[in-house]
Amino acid sequence: MSHRERVYRTQAIVLRRTDFGEADRLLTVFTPDRGKLRLVAKGARKPSSRKSGHLELFSRGQFMVAVGRELDIVTQAETLEPFLPLREDLLRTTYAYYVAELADAFTAERDENGPLYRLLLDAYGWLCADEDLALIARYYELHLLGLVGFQPQLFACISCRNPLEPEISYMSAADGGILCGRCGRDWIGAAEVSVNALKVLRFLQTRDWDTCRLLRLSPATHIEIERLMNTYLTYHLERKLKSVDFIHRLRRQMGVG
Ligand SMILES: [Zn+2]
Repeated sequence: MSHRERVYRTQAIVLRRTDFGEADRLLTVFTPDRGKLRLVAKGARKPSSRKSGHLELFSRGQFMVAVGRELDIVTQAETLEPFLPLREDLLRTTYAYYVAELADAFTAERDENGPLYRLLLDAYGWLCADEDLALIARYYELHLLGLVGFQPQLFACISCRNPLEPEISYMSAADGGILCGRCGRDWIGAAEVSVNALKVLRFLQTRDWDTCRLLRLSPATHIEIERLMNTYLTYHLERKLKSVDFIHRLRRQMGVG
């Protein structure tokens, strides 16, 4: 332990916050160079605590952290960006929870992912200011999947490898993307995808948000892409969670954690 740092300074976004013990708070945060961390803020629920106002859910802050035996400990915190609308507007709050939940679920602790930190910050900024919150969620889902190694293939058929034509196609979450009309028709577990939905998904996957925010989708398209993404995410989340469980079990068996 002596070769390791005792204290470190990091920026962090608060993803989850729960009460812990008598007066402490347990935080799940995401950092630019240490990935996801679980931290304890001692005494943060005491009215006299100077930290308490600086550990708000969904805010970005500058933290001083002391390495602890089990959990690292927040010793100082200062809010840099409060993202207030995420706590004041119920619909925005709900989407902020969703964004945080996905980042938490698709990452392991201390798995560095700078681009995902950036995406989280961007998503919180957009959720504060933009109106089409569902479109932000779809954009976030597609880019998150790319950053954690589950990017869906939307341009070539995942079976015959031919470029996809503008026709009814099919999505197979288990196989990681879209099937052409010919391959997908009888594919077990594949869901139909309209020409327009595929166009929108590809657009969201490959353009930046400043371009995507100009999209105006019909309610039907919104519903269709939400269903498709939900199926895809749920499938890969379960696989991910199983693999995380497996890693933890293996580590315990090997006596390394
Ligand atoms: Zn095909």
